[in-house]
Amino acid sequence: MLSELSISKWLKAEKVVVFTGAGISAESGIPTFRDQGGLWDQYRPEELANEEAFRSRPDFVWQWYQWRRSLIRQAEPNEAHIALVEMEHMKPEFTLISQNVDGFHKLAGSQKLLELHGNIQLDKCIDCQQPYEQSTEGLEEPPLCRECGGLIRPGVVWFGENLSPKVMALSAQAVSNCDFFITIGTSAIVQPAASLIYMAKQNGAYIIEINPNISAAEDIVDDFIRDTATVGTSYLLELLEDNSLDRHI
Ligand code: NAD
Ligand code: ZN
Repeated sequence: MLSELSISKWLKAEKVVVFTGAGISAESGIPTFRDQGGLWDQYRPEELANEEAFRSRPDFVWQWYQWRRSLIRQAEPNEAHIALVEMEHMKPEFTLISQNVDGFHKLAGSQKLLELHGNIQLDKCIDCQQPYEQSTEGLEEPPLCRECGGLIRPGVVWFGENLSPKVMALSAQAVSNCDFFITIGTSAIVQPAASLIYMAKQNGAYIIEINPNISAAEDIVDDFIRDTATVGTSYLLELLEDNSLDRHI
């Protein structure tokens, strides 16, 4: 699947960054933003996932989140999430940076993890930002904040909002230091997250992509696996396992 050069770079790599997007959870049954499901097909996620949309149609946007949350609650991490947990233990330095809000990397057991866009199962006040600890499962409209009466919203980073400076700084640090960068299941168009791929390139990392389709990163990746996340990650893991067996013979 990969060239000889890529395989040798992968086996020698010591500082690895993996960057994931919605595509890694597609095989868990969670729709990506490019292939939404049924009811919501007629809306662009960018039109729903922002503060203005929520303030003008709170019940409607809330219900979209409730639909997405219930899909995630009924699903579970897949083999690709699990393969990344194993990889974390096989490389001296490893950082997983995810754009996903489903929490599946954490659930699978990844520890060296940076979540850029928050977690969809958490809630907070839109005005005072206080976390809202009570369960909102099954509610058809957003509750109000006990402190200030503001609307309760999902604890994700919306379009137009800033990422946590701390998480972004830690991501930039890992990326600027890595020698091998793997982008998995992302269209590479949501900024500033996607800029991490370009940062890796500028810093001289070798970059590969796992995606059954072409993404915006196509021109800068050094090699790619045009297959799904589960197939691509298990291939990379097998290469590592075979290599460590060879060394012990
Ligand atoms: P995207 O929807 O823009 O792109 C998804 C990418 O995944 C596409 O390039 C597609 O070709 C690829 N893909 C589809 N099936 C795949 C598979 N089986 N294996 C590998 N790749 C596959 O998603 P994005 O780039 O992550 O950006 C959109 C934003 O959407 C992110 O900020 C993220 O927070 C949010 N999002 C998250 C989830 C989630 O948490 N599961 C789901 C939808 C959207
Ligand atoms: Zn409040």
